[in-house]
Amino acid sequence: MKYGLHIGLLLLGSFVSQSAFAVLNIFACEPEWASLAEILGGDRVKVVSATTAHQDPHRIEARPSLIAKVRRADLLVCSGAELEIGWLPMLQRQAGNRRVLPGQTGYFEAAAQVERLGIPEKVDRSQGDVHASGNPHVHLDPHRLLGIASALSDRLAILDKPNADHYRSRLDDFSRRWEEALQRWEDQALPLKGMRMVVHHQDWVYLFDWLGMVNAGSLEPKPGLPASAGHLASLRKTLQDAPASAIIYTHYQNPKAAKRLSQLTGIPAVELPYTVGGADEVVDLFTLFDVTLKRLLEVVT
Ligand SMILES: [Zn+2]
Repeated sequence: MKYGLHIGLLLLGSFVSQSAFAVLNIFACEPEWASLAEILGGDRVKVVSATTAHQDPHRIEARPSLIAKVRRADLLVCSGAELEIGWLPMLQRQAGNRRVLPGQTGYFEAAAQVERLGIPEKVDRSQGDVHASGNPHVHLDPHRLLGIASALSDRLAILDKPNADHYRSRLDDFSRRWEEALQRWEDQALPLKGMRMVVHHQDWVYLFDWLGMVNAGSLEPKPGLPASAGHLASLRKTLQDAPASAIIYTHYQNPKAAKRLSQLTGIPAVELPYTVGGADEVVDLFTLFDVTLKRLLEVVT
């Protein structure tokens, strides 16, 4: 009897210590979602990111080390809307972890939580690497990001019910700080309204929509295709009639085309961070927007 009670206490002890220390293993497809999951989860989550700011999230190799990480994950947090279509389905298949398959609670798509821009009326693959479900680069609109944060917080609470209050209070804290920052960013960004910018890829649709900036052309003749000399020449001609303030590219893109067009036109080429880690100062989502606006304002003021 005494012995049984002892075992019971031991089991209870191990259960308590396990629930106090077990954390949700989160596999984020991109650094922006790793950063958001860390902010919302705090010490209740352990987050790994499949990619860094130096990698093109459209094109990632499904390495065995990534498969092992998906196998261990309780939750996948990805952009969705086909951004990862070239590599994530393969990781999910190979990992054999049913909890994180599409449709399961352990699979969270950021783009599915918000209204998407750029949904093509008809999908025609001859038009290049078109994002058929709309543009997936949703994190660059801070309003949408707030909605995604709320949905992700709810998902964490479903997966880890005993800590629902913890996730709720972290979301409240994040939302308060984010709304303060949003006010500041929108005040700072007023001079950017109506500015015309050439882009490398359509990564900036949501940023432009938020700030009222105008897309003056794309270095990619079709999504996913490199710029040709002929395409740059025709862009140059377009820009003579309707000039632009900057040519925007990001860390994971080859800067050659942006720099060449800059030489041809005298329009400055500007590297923007795009995600967390995309510049030395960009250590979280707040500094991502701080630095993005700073670099854009430098060219227009
Ligand atoms: Zn894209």
